[in-house]
Amino acid sequence: MTIEAVNPATDEVLATYDEMTPASVGQIIGEVNEAFLAWRRIPFPERATPMRRAAEILRAEASELAHLMAREMGKPVRDGVAEAQKCALTCDFYAENAARFLAREPIKTEAGNSFVAFNPLGVVLAVMPWNFPFWQVFRFAAPGLMAGNGAVLKHASNVPGCALAIEDIFRRAGFPANLFRTLLIGSGRVETVIEHPLIRAATLTGSGAAGRAIARQAGGLLKKTVLELGGSDPYLVLEDADPEFAATVCTKARLINSGQSCIAGKRFIVVDAIRHDFEDRFVEQMAAARVGDPFKEDTRVGPLARRDLRDTLHRQVEASVAKGARCLLGGVIPEGRGAYYPPTVLTDVRAGMPAYDEELFGPVAAIIPVKNEEEAIAAANDSSFGLGAAVITRDSSRGERIAAELIESGCVFVNDAVRSDPRLPFGGIKESGYGRELSGYGIKEFVNIKTVWVA
Ligand code: NAP
Repeated sequence: MTIEAVNPATDEVLATYDEMTPASVGQIIGEVNEAFLAWRRIPFPERATPMRRAAEILRAEASELAHLMAREMGKPVRDGVAEAQKCALTCDFYAENAARFLAREPIKTEAGNSFVAFNPLGVVLAVMPWNFPFWQVFRFAAPGLMAGNGAVLKHASNVPGCALAIEDIFRRAGFPANLFRTLLIGSGRVETVIEHPLIRAATLTGSGAAGRAIARQAGGLLKKTVLELGGSDPYLVLEDADPEFAATVCTKARLINSGQSCIAGKRFIVVDAIRHDFEDRFVEQMAAARVGDPFKEDTRVGPLARRDLRDTLHRQVEASVAKGARCLLGGVIPEGRGAYYPPTVLTDVRAGMPAYDEELFGPVAAIIPVKNEEEAIAAANDSSFGLGAAVITRDSSRGERIAAELIESGCVFVNDAVRSDPRLPFGGIKESGYGRELSGYGIKEFVNIKTVWVA
């Protein structure tokens, strides 16, 4: 089998790679484990040196890396530069804080000394998606390596160049040569990697279907998993919100990464009293977003990453309209090359439509009208997903109460679009997955939380 990188803006094949053989995958895992056994003994300050160097490389090469992302998955270069810089920030964050997060925790008991120590687990498998081809990997790898683990990366098959570039960054940064390695394999081969006795745990960011497969396989072998899956983030626009401000936040939230983000705003739950004002402004702002060549600096929405993903999105739009949704903007596949889809706004979206029940992974917004706050909260929670959410209101204490107490999701932002940040835990509940990445919580996912009792 071969792995092919295709430019989604032009449909041109960029490169073809032979899938690695089972023997070479086994050899690589063995080599990563050897590197891990030495690395786990390296003190934190010495681990931090190559991590800081990785940050420097990411900053220095942000433009080239952004062009690589644009070629392989169509991300506008402006967004790619920001992504590389965020990876750098996260490398620096864990270089700075890992020792503190993983310091021994004394616990008072009747022992002479008792404490909790945090030991690395070993080689962790990371199965990653294409949508943030650097960020998704670094937000696992920076804490994972600082905790003393080794890692093998099975990246999405459409971004092999990004996968190899990440391995190269860690090597050039001065990490032991085999501590972080890329496996060029298709998803059909992941199960045999999980079965390898030296693989101690797995993390996956991706779809629910992939999450279920990996959870089943790893669970059967009693190996730990962290799963970051899809989302259908609700944005509650309450009647006291400023409609222009709400439209600005919601447009930003929907169009992040050309709409292909797990934490993009997807369901806009709008109280009737503000609905028409909001809809007018939202449609105006969505229509103004510049769609086009990802290499142009002013492009806000590039092509989707693959044609099949674009076609799935369009089917979801058509099926929602067939069930009674009204299309206020977009909804038509443009002529010509590339996997483009226009910013689209659907309204009158209700339960039973794909735009309500499923994740829309592209620039399509679903407006769900409701009568009041209570109905808005019920609609927000009426989802199989639970990743992020936002509340837009002029009354921030009202927003805070709804956010902290009433919404079922891994994070809620008030008067702002949801985003990840290395300082804050990130992850979901329900079918959005389990476990947390980032912050002090994330670095403790792949460690042995070990009790030590000295009588
Ligand atoms: P995907 O098809 O699940 O692919 C993600 C990764 O899983 C790829 O490396 C893929 O490999 C692999 N994979 C797919 N099926 C597998 C299986 N049965 N067993 C083992 N590995 C498998 O997802 P995607 O379409 O690339 O990404 C979009 C999805 O990811 C969306 O649902 C999105 O919300 C979610 N996502 C979640 C987060 C989060 O943090 N929660 C972040 C980003 C994306 P191949 O490419 O070789 O198929």
